[in-house]
Amino acid sequence: MKDMMDAVSVEESRRTSLVGGISIYCDPETYQTDQHLHDLPQYISVGVGIHPRHACYSVIQVNQAVERFQNLLANPCMVAFEEVGLDHSEPMKYWAYQVEMLDKMLPFLEDRHVLVIHCRGMKGDCVAEAFLLLLHVLKRYVRRHHPIHLHCFTGNKYVQNRWLEVLTDILWVHQQGEDILSGPDGGTTER
Ligand SMILES: [Zn+2]
Repeated sequence: MKDMMDAVSVEESRRTSLVGGISIYCDPETYQTDQHLHDLPQYISVGVGIHPRHACYSVIQVNQAVERFQNLLANPCMVAFEEVGLDHSEPMKYWAYQVEMLDKMLPFLEDRHVLVIHCRGMKGDCVAEAFLLLLHVLKRYVRRHHPIHLHCFTGNKYVQNRWLEVLTDILWVHQQGEDILSGPDGGTTER
């Protein structure tokens, strides 16, 4: 980390202090051993998931990936369940498999995990259909006040309101960079 920080010179007035980071494993090919995770510096948190784009694997491969994911998720160092969701920019023939994969993973979500959502709509279309389908799946497994990080949100106010009726504690990270935090009372504050 120090090497990285020293690699680029930064003006004194622009310096900030980095207090930690997160190491994310959402491709089963990159999953690490428990020992590797144990050896990470204390300021690095860890998240694990299976990205929806991997739903194109065979059923056997998905089941094996879910089993490895489940074992890794049980490690006490896991603070995030990420990235999981739906990706409708992928060919339509994989969409049902993405839902099936979510149905296999979400039962293992625990209160200690921040749920990090990836959701993409069809290319060139509005994303409402993907977000509303995803909400339909999530509400079967996720408690109302579970902390959720919804990254690169591209939906509209209608989609946001439907989600807030069901799930209240959401950090909406918009693609344009402005982040909106929805508190447990459903109110929103920009940050
Ligand atoms: Zn993503």
